[in-house]
Parts: sequence; C-alpha cells; structure tokens
Amino acid sequence: MQELTARQVNITDLFWSPRLEVNAQKAIFHQWKQLETTRCIDNFRLVAGEKDGFREGWFFADSDAYKWLDAASRVYALHADPKLASIMDSFIALLARTQMPDGYIFTYNQLHFPNQRWINLQIEHELYCHGHLIEAGVSHYEATGRRDLLDLCIKAADLLVRDFLNASNDKTCGHEEIELALIRLYRVTEIEEYLELARQFVERRGRTLLYGIQWWFERNSFMKRNAYVNQLRQDYIVNHPEHQSFRLPGGNYAKKPPFTKLRHRLNALRGFYAQQHTPIRKQTAPVGHSVRFGYLETAIAMLVREEQNLSPQRTRSTQRNKPIGFSFESLVPFVFNKESSDESLLSTLEQAWERMVTRRMYITGGLGAAPEIEGFGKDYDLDPEYAYNETCASLASLFWNWEMALITQDARYSDLFEWQLYNATNVGMGQNGDTYLYNNPLTVHHGVTRQGWYVVPCCPSNLSRTFADLGKYIYSFEENSIWIHQHISSETTVDVGVPLNIKIESELPWKGKVRIHIKPATQKAFTIHLRKPSWDVSSLPAEGSTASGYDPTKAEYEVINRLWSPEGEALEFNFDMTIQLRRAHPKVKGHDGKVAITRGPLVYCLESTDNPDVDIFTAQLDSSSLSDEFIPDLLGGTVVIYGKTTDGEPLKFIPYFLWANRGESRMIVWVNVIQG
Ligand SMILES: [Zn+2]
Repeated sequence: MQELTARQVNITDLFWSPRLEVNAQKAIFHQWKQLETTRCIDNFRLVAGEKDGFREGWFFADSDAYKWLDAASRVYALHADPKLASIMDSFIALLARTQMPDGYIFTYNQLHFPNQRWINLQIEHELYCHGHLIEAGVSHYEATGRRDLLDLCIKAADLLVRDFLNASNDKTCGHEEIELALIRLYRVTEIEEYLELARQFVERRGRTLLYGIQWWFERNSFMKRNAYVNQLRQDYIVNHPEHQSFRLPGGNYAKKPPFTKLRHRLNALRGFYAQQHTPIRKQTAPVGHSVRFGYLETAIAMLVREEQNLSPQRTRSTQRNKPIGFSFESLVPFVFNKESSDESLLSTLEQAWERMVTRRMYITGGLGAAPEIEGFGKDYDLDPEYAYNETCASLASLFWNWEMALITQDARYSDLFEWQLYNATNVGMGQNGDTYLYNNPLTVHHGVTRQGWYVVPCCPSNLSRTFADLGKYIYSFEENSIWIHQHISSETTVDVGVPLNIKIESELPWKGKVRIHIKPATQKAFTIHLRKPSWDVSSLPAEGSTASGYDPTKAEYEVINRLWSPEGEALEFNFDMTIQLRRAHPKVKGHDGKVAITRGPLVYCLESTDNPDVDIFTAQLDSSSLSDEFIPDLLGGTVVIYGKTTDGEPLKFIPYFLWANRGESRMIVWVNVIQG
C-alpha cells in the first residue's frame, strides 16, 4: 500500500483542526522557548565555541532539540511560517558548526570527553540521539526540499556505517530509534547501506552472550563518567561564581512499587528493559521500556515493508519458519538464515501485538504498567494507579500500528491507532498547547497539574510532530483501491488509475455521522475499504476477550467495489455512539465491580473538578442513570456524560484526554458500579 504525505491531505475537521492549529501556532514555539530557557540549545553553542558556560541537562538532551527540529519541519510543511523557518535555519547552521569533521555530533562527549565515543551504547543514548538528528534531517528535506540538514545527517550516517556496519553483536543502542531513522534516511536517499545497517542493528538485539555483564560494566562506566562530569561542574562553579546552574522541572507524580531501583536493575540485567533478552524473531511478547519497544517494533515493521516492496509476491501472509531473504544479506551471513526455526518477522510482530492488546494494555490504549522500568508488566498486570503510560509509548505504538496497517491491510491496526490517538496520546498535550503530561495513570489520588516542561522533555515535541503529520494516517491506496483508516474530515486526491477526489465529512468524536464523497475524474471501477470501528456498539467485545475491555480485532473494513461516476457520489455511515460500560478481564486485579465508560472512540473519566461534592474513588455509579449532552462552552466543546450514584448524588464524566486542564485535580477512569 502507498502512503500519502500530510501535505497531500487537507484536514478540515471540527475536532482536529483547532488542535492542529494550536500545535502549529503555539506548541511548537513554546517548546523552542523551553529548549532555550533550559539551555539545551546552548549546549551546541558551547561545543561550537560561541558561548561560555557549563553543559546543562541529561546526557541525551541533544535528542530533545533534534525532535523539536523534526516537529518544526513537519509543522512547516503545512504552515510555511517565516518565523519558524528563521529559528530552524539558525539552529541548522549551529548544528553545522557543532558537528565534527567526520560527522560525529553528541554534545555530552564533545564537551566532557572529547576523545571518547561509542563508550556505553546501552546506557548513554548516543546512537538514539543520532537517530533523532537523522529523522529531523529527513523531515526537513521532505518539508523544504533543501539538503543542508539532510547532508549533515548523511555525514553522520556515513560515520555510523563506517563504525557499525558488520560490527559485533554487542554494538546496538540501548534505546531504539536509530534503526527506524536509518530506514527513513534510506527511503529518501536510496543508499542501501543505511537500510542494511538498520537491519543489522535490529537483528543484533538479544544476541550478546552474557548481556547482563555488558550492561553492568557499561552502567559502572557511565556512573564514573557521570561523577567526573559532576566534579567538572563543581570546579567550574568555583572558578565562575557568576554561573547559575539551571535545574530542570521535575516529572509528574508517579506511584512506584517498593524496591524500584532493584526491580529496574534486575530487569535491565536480564535484557528485558532494552529488548535484549532474546533475538527479535523470538520476541513474541511486549517487554521492557515501552517507548523503546514501540520504536523497535516500528523499525521491524518498516523492514518488513521494505521487503514487501522488494518481493511483492510474498506480501500479506504470515510466514512462519521462514527466514527473510534480502538481496544484500550475503554481507553478513552470520546474522541471516541462522535460525531456521525462528518465526518470521511479521509473525513475531503479530504475536507481540496480540499479547500487548489482549493482556498488557490499558483501556485508554496506554502502555506501561511497571513504572520502575517505564514499561510493560506481566500479563493482566494493569493497576490503574501504577499505570505509567508515557505519552511517547502511545506515540511509538501509533507509528508501529500505521506500518502494520499498511503491511497487512487489517482494520485492527487502524482501530487501535484511532483509540490510542484520541485517548492515550491526545491526553499528553493540554488544550492550550503549552502544558503536557508525561506519564498518564488511570487513577490519580494525589492530584496532578500539567507542566510546561519536564526533566525529561521527550513527549512534547513527539506529540507535535505526530499531530503535524496527522493527515498522513487517514488514507492509503494501491492500484485501484483506497483505504479510509481514520474518520477525520479531510480532502485529498489520489491516483486509482484516474485522479480520484475523496472527501470525508465526519462528526466524530461527538456524533457518529460520517459522509464520504467520491468523485473520480472519469467513470471508473475501484474499491473503497472503509474502517468500521470496533467501538460501534454492535461490535462490543465479549466480556473477558481482552484485559482492558477494548478489542480492536472487532474492527473491519467495509469493502465497496463498483463502478463510480464522475458526477460524484456520497456514502453515509452512522456509527453508534451509545454509552458503553466496559469491564476488565476477571484476571485483572482490583477491577471487580468496576466499569470504564466509553462513548464512540473516547474513554471517559471522573475528575474532581467536576465532582467537588462526591468522593470519586468510592462513589457507586447507578448505571441506569447515564445520559450525554454536548456542552459547547466546556473545554472547547465536549460531550459530557451525566450519571448518578446509587445515593442519588450527581456525577459528571468528561473525556479522559481533557482531564487536568483546569488546575490540580484528582481523577479516576474505572468507577464502582451497581448494574441498574
Ligand atoms: Zn516521552
């Protein structure tokens, strides 16, 4: 299947257009200001010798600046704002002055360890940072057609090819990202070494003998280097009394289990934390850090799609017990065709996806039940208060599910995309675009306030680049077929043998009416595949089919294959927006007698702000009392669900993604219920 770019799709959606406008007009500028305020950009100026001071932020802080540049490029592709162009241009010029002649760029080492590189690949995110730089370069090239940043990235990528192609199996990054970035770079440059290096990085995972020992040595090395940097900082402050160190803001409150550090160490030593526990063809369950997992699965799916493009006759079927053959696999015979009993890559992805969706995902689509590793817990381990559900984890899942939708043409992937987009992802950015949530629990007793920035500010620019790209995820096409994955009001023209103008008028997520206007240039037979969502009430999953009560496998594409007239025709659908009470699987602890309320693609919650006279954590819902109403002046206009407790006290539910927009509050998704 072929993708469109966001620029080829004009979004005209009552729900999404204002959100994208806030993203383009406010969020992207707010994020740049934060990067400057927290001196992240100054780190590059220090390397370039254009400023005095001491490096601030985490060792991987460069990635936040690159991800902003990636997001800004994607925003610029749709809104050619000269102010944004000016910021991007000056930053790109600064990067050119920061980059070393051989392509290396990593301010932590350049400033503190000028003769060291690739020291602690599992811990220090050096390749991860290069990955985000490369993604920014590709996005900037796609947005502007200019090669300055792209060429800088090619220089960096060529260095990686020199240092890592055909290297040993321990040469991987502890935080995946470089893999998918190299595939994106391959797609625009067609330089096969980048694809091959991505493939080797992916295939090397889980093949290091005694990985725990590697991790432990690297961890100790990192701690020593970190102590040395702290000493440098103290010396600098003594010699520069005028220097004022900058303290990044903290994170949101996250409830953590006892022995958090010990749990993290054990998980990392066994390789699970960074998906290093076993080769990827045996990784049939989601484990470890959930953002890393999502980026790894995305890269694997991209590799599968590249293989599809090379061998289209081998598409769309699960290939078991069959190693993938690449035209240049002979370059590294030790990696390929080694384990004939392994599952194929696609089968592995499908199994991991199924395990995630049926047993390790929250009702919101959030991923990460174990805050100590910011990642997956065991099957049915879905405590709503421990839920970490980092915004980036759901974003990574979107990227993966999009690739899976294109590979398999199975509606389950676009259905999960929609569910995670509206709930687990959308909650990450506040209504005004300048406040965010990092972790996203489903029960909050302690009160949370959105913040303008975080000690690890990975999520804001990740949200912005994805929102800017939203148009890309609505349609896809192939020969004389078109798929409508998302019901977002928009218009585009694709080539299905003749130019086809297609327009969606959707009233989601508040009402279920969707109209599709089809207008080919001349009379033509072609097929439209339109996703019927799993949440359409006729498809409500049987109780216990998944841990969370949400089951995307109930989604399907309605296939309409006929002759279409150039006069233009309209299809109309009315998806059922009945309020649904979803129950968790009986194996999920603490969910007996509780329901999550959903309506259309939205999960609802009780926020203390709307229910000041009720204890939202102990209230018993009378499920026969529920009704809904659109309130135009609440939170930008939203459907509210009203109910009553069994004592007759009023309850007011709002969509989960809207919570924490009105100051500090408490919140709960799974509410006690007496079935009426
Ligand atoms: Zn994040």
